[in-house]
Amino acid sequence: MWENIEVALEKTPLDKLKKKPSEDNLGFGVHFTDHMYLSKWNREKGWHDSKICPYQDFQMNPASMVFHYGQAIFEGMKAYRGKDDQIFLFRPKDNFERLNTSALRMCMPRVPVDLVLKSLKALLYLDREWIPSAPGATLYIRPTMIGVDPILGVKPSDTYLFYIIMCPVGAYYPEGFNPTKIYVSDEYVRAVKGGVGQVKTAGNYAASLYMSEIAKKAGYTQVLWLDACEHKYVEEVGTSNIFFQIEDELITPPLGGSILGGITRDSVLKLAQSWGIKTVERPIAIDEVLAASKDGSLKEIFGTGTAAVISPVGELMYKNETYIINNGETGVLAQRLFTELQAIQNGYGADPDKWVVRVC
Ligand SMILES: *Cc1c(COP(=O)(O)O)cnc(C)c1O
Repeated sequence: MWENIEVALEKTPLDKLKKKPSEDNLGFGVHFTDHMYLSKWNREKGWHDSKICPYQDFQMNPASMVFHYGQAIFEGMKAYRGKDDQIFLFRPKDNFERLNTSALRMCMPRVPVDLVLKSLKALLYLDREWIPSAPGATLYIRPTMIGVDPILGVKPSDTYLFYIIMCPVGAYYPEGFNPTKIYVSDEYVRAVKGGVGQVKTAGNYAASLYMSEIAKKAGYTQVLWLDACEHKYVEEVGTSNIFFQIEDELITPPLGGSILGGITRDSVLKLAQSWGIKTVERPIAIDEVLAASKDGSLKEIFGTGTAAVISPVGELMYKNETYIINNGETGVLAQRLFTELQAIQNGYGADPDKWVVRVC
């Protein structure tokens, strides 16, 4: 059935094309491109009415299930304008496969990965002028699926929308790396094993807002989450995975069900291994991190995710005590990983694992 899906093309009329925002003030997720991908699903037809169409508002029944019970999953990926003005994607299949893993957990239908990737490439080609050329600026891509039955009974929806919207975003670090200050949450938790922490689903982010606001008011940019049972083991930082360099080991928490399996996390593990760095996926207690900070064996902490790529941590705050990490400076390893990943994403680096996909 999937192989036969036709994807229609409805172009935005020339006189309705939007004015592109200035590249030095893009913000994050504020300006959207002229077109989107949109597809519908129901039990009889599967995916149907698939099209690339003008970016548009939805008209929805207020009872739509997604508004009440949160059947919503998404992805976050980027298109890069790199070497010789070519457009690249980074490990895009991994994003759509992860979307399908999320779909399974949330009782939602799978998307046809090859077709969706082909459609995304067509969409990118159509809106290619929106892909910024300023250094570090990219086009952020947000594939999303929502359950839309207009019924208040609690059950999986029988109808879904899948869509892809895109927005130009500025460089995360326009003035070079800026290590972040992190608030370690010892009260609120993000996710629990057996729940949906490993799924990119809307509710996880709604649940994180309250603690994020507390951290912001205290002057911290992100929250470091501990495990939900003992409030002891480190899980993630904000919406990024987290790494610690202690002595010569690069340590990151294992994917035990409450942590999102980041594609950047996986790329960092593989890159570091290829450089001969010893990587370890194991539970790491906050007390171990703080002890290593005190005795000097903790060299670096950084987060990893599509938005920032690498996000160095300069300070931790835990139970009213602050710990300065690496003199509040960006570490050598964080810098090296950031530089190399950006080079690969822009088509300059060696790419033995074929992570980069050229669009046009
Ligand atoms: C998206 C996300 C990440 C990072 O995943 P990437 O694939 O590297 O972008 C990490 N943690 C959470 C909670 C996320 O939502």
